[in-house]
Amino acid sequence: MSDTQVAFSDLDLPSSVLKSITELGYETPSPIQAACIPLLLNGDDVLGMAQTGTGKTAAFALPLLSRIDLKLNKPQVLVLAPTRELAVQVAEAFQAYARHIPGFHVLPIYGGQSYTLQLKQLRRGPHVVVGTPGRVMDHLDRGTLILDELKAMVLDEADEMLRMGFIDDVETIMAKTPAARQTALFSATMPEQIRRITKRYMRDPKEIKIASKTTTMENIDQRCWIVSGVNKLDALVRILETEDCGGIIIFARTKTATTEIAEKLEARGYAAAPLNGDMNQQLRERTVQRLKDAKLDILVATDVAARGLDVERVGMVINYDIPYDTEAYVHRIGRTGRAGRDGKAILFVAPRERRLLKQIEQATRQPIKQMDLPSRDMVQNKRLESFREQVTSIFNDEDMSTYRELVDQLASDTELETLDLASALLYMAQKDKPLILPPEPEPRPRRERDNDRDSRDGERGAKRERINYADLDVYRLEVGRNDGVQVKNIVGAIANEADINSRHIGDIRLFDDHSTVQLPKGMPPEVLQQLKGVFICRKKIDISLMEGEIARPAPRKPRGDFKGKGRNDRGGNDRGAPRKPRPRRDA
Ligand code: AMP
Repeated sequence: MSDTQVAFSDLDLPSSVLKSITELGYETPSPIQAACIPLLLNGDDVLGMAQTGTGKTAAFALPLLSRIDLKLNKPQVLVLAPTRELAVQVAEAFQAYARHIPGFHVLPIYGGQSYTLQLKQLRRGPHVVVGTPGRVMDHLDRGTLILDELKAMVLDEADEMLRMGFIDDVETIMAKTPAARQTALFSATMPEQIRRITKRYMRDPKEIKIASKTTTMENIDQRCWIVSGVNKLDALVRILETEDCGGIIIFARTKTATTEIAEKLEARGYAAAPLNGDMNQQLRERTVQRLKDAKLDILVATDVAARGLDVERVGMVINYDIPYDTEAYVHRIGRTGRAGRDGKAILFVAPRERRLLKQIEQATRQPIKQMDLPSRDMVQNKRLESFREQVTSIFNDEDMSTYRELVDQLASDTELETLDLASALLYMAQKDKPLILPPEPEPRPRRERDNDRDSRDGERGAKRERINYADLDVYRLEVGRNDGVQVKNIVGAIANEADINSRHIGDIRLFDDHSTVQLPKGMPPEVLQQLKGVFICRKKIDISLMEGEIARPAPRKPRGDFKGKGRNDRGGNDRGAPRKPRPRRDA
């Protein structure tokens, strides 16, 4: 966790890479990075139990960049990722870390993108390819992706790939890469099939699992807000406006973020300052002293800079960016509730970071209550209340006689009633912090919100919406059980190739020589065309609309006949098929 004493500069990374991470504002390696980077630099195979949010991308990207021979315009590192979003994200991370490596070239390849474009890009000879398994397989089969110079391979979110039905493709791809390649596999969990892969395809992998201490903090009220609808900064301000507490520490991941957030809060009238590793010891001490003396109310800190910080008046900790692991979380929230006082801790969790939240809850053995953001009315009432208090205290503490005379004078000069004059003055006084807030924006239509969301988020935890069958059409796929197809293969292929959130895929039924799937009405012809060419289990699906078929929920299944997991527990799938031909059940 953030107590790692290792610095990036201790890690033998090339200076060009060190320069990029300094510019990105990374202060210290996260635990998974501190553990993985030396091993991967050393040529070891690595098995990392880690998920999004732990810094795993940099844990493999930084060391593998040092393996690239820029003169060789062939793929030397291949990363397999379960979704196009992750593939793009990982490719972007490589690009960011390699910004000072001239001539470096990374290419994301995923379903849904035109083959022609991908072929052109592949011909340019990327050094790193990041792809979803289906599309990588296609290119391997077509001979358009040549991996004979591959030095390293990464399986990112292996358990997700398993869940989405890609694991056979992953194995086939691995079998086609040079045996001498180095392999890193990251997975939040280690199901048996993944263990099997590690045994078959990895050489004495070093296992990395960051142990977490379990500490309980009963005097701290812990809550979390799942980021949605409102951006994090606006959410932060709403919380700051409505929560009563003395000093506050806000934790961000990077030094750059601490400065940015502190500046934005200052601009909104808060006494806030950053606390990070770019500041020398003396400046840091002075800043902490100002918090102690209540000259500052808010410190925006990185984990390292706030290590051991002990300020009694800190009543709240806000985890603006989720910490890498439980230990960091426990350390952060321990900055409040000092000297036997009560404290509050709020954690911002992006939908895709829910697993990390679960892990924190499990390790601390304390549930973290989900909170709603304070409403507009709450913010407005709070502002009125503090305005009232200000006015009352001015009347109690100051001599107002000369101002009363001035008001009289102004009223007669302007020929205004005192009440009208008071309203004008109130209007002027509240301008920076309006006492009447604009109405909340209407919630955006669901389709728009879904488009913003990473398709994995819905899978990860958000409650499933109930499917409206009237909104679905039935399609026929020319692949069936005889081809070895399973429900999960269909979900994975369609979700990735047509970019349809898997929550919007209705029931799937498997027959011997074909399958049917219910998909949202109004599929654009180009998406349908795109889907036609998709392969599942090496067979073109050749999808077509089944005119006249009405989508309806599959009838309840008899007990114990279906062992599917994940998406399949929603019901439906290969059940309730017509009598002839009778589909066999998927196990
Ligand atoms: P990941 O777990 O790879 O998805 O990374 C999560 C986020 O943490 C990304 O936004 C990274 O840019 C950021 N990050 C990764 N490593 C560090 C680090 N050492 N210091 C600060 N931020 C980091």
